[in-house]
Amino acid sequence: MPQLIPIISRVLILILATAASVFAQNDPEWTEPFPAFRIAGNLYYVGSKGLANYLVTTPQGNILINSDLEANVPLLQASIEKLGFKFADTKILLISHAHWDHDAGSAKIKELTGASYMVMDADVPVVESGGKADFQYGNRPEFLYPPAKVERVLHDGDEVKLGGAVLVAHLTAGHTKGCTTWTMKVTEGGKTYNVVIVGSPNVNQGYKLVHNDAYPQIASDYLRLFDTLKVLPCDIFLGAHGGYFGLEEKYAHRKDGAANPFVDPDGYRKFVAEKEQEFRTELAKQTLAAK
Ligand SMILES: [Zn+2]
Repeated sequence: MPQLIPIISRVLILILATAASVFAQNDPEWTEPFPAFRIAGNLYYVGSKGLANYLVTTPQGNILINSDLEANVPLLQASIEKLGFKFADTKILLISHAHWDHDAGSAKIKELTGASYMVMDADVPVVESGGKADFQYGNRPEFLYPPAKVERVLHDGDEVKLGGAVLVAHLTAGHTKGCTTWTMKVTEGGKTYNVVIVGSPNVNQGYKLVHNDAYPQIASDYLRLFDTLKVLPCDIFLGAHGGYFGLEEKYAHRKDGAANPFVDPDGYRKFVAEKEQEFRTELAKQTLAAK
């Protein structure tokens, strides 16, 4: 009889873990449409309610950040066209990091637009293998997607330039090995703003921070990520998911003539501090358990 309890709890953990991963893959907000709108200057929001996409427009074509799930590609196209831009003018495709919810649609977008795909070095094997090279999810068929060829391999600090727009790729690894935080400047009403689009500081369910053979330096990468995020100048705070920066609330508070709610340097600092605390708590827990 006493043997039964550990077995039951193990079965329960398995059921919960399975439910969590299915939920993670099928979060209904990921495919729920959201109004496309101008954030500031030549920077636009073209994502769904749960998956964030950004369009940077220039006289020489546009840059799109994130391709999302394959199912989101028609949504993305509709958002871009609703703003009066052409989907076919997408010249460069970038991602926040090589996870299916941000990159599964890349092959389709490349096919439809001919965009040049530019990805951070350590995420390249993952996107080019359709997720198979991912340290955590590579052997999970439900998280795999069509592979997409990369035209330009990026390194930490590289600039992506098009028609006067300059985006800087900051390596913020941990969540994936090539997780990228994008920064750029936008001008609005004679003022220049520093934009930060956070790649992801999250420690996913099941991530091993200690003795991880598939990603030995994961913990030190996360620590470096927080060091990087803490020193980036930020006026306009954005990220790979709307939930990071309160997309819905801020969108609801946009008003002509009023302060732009997306200008939120305090919100950015608070977010980074909270995520660092979450990471350090999890690291301490796993370090203790490994002793
Ligand atoms: Zn992710």
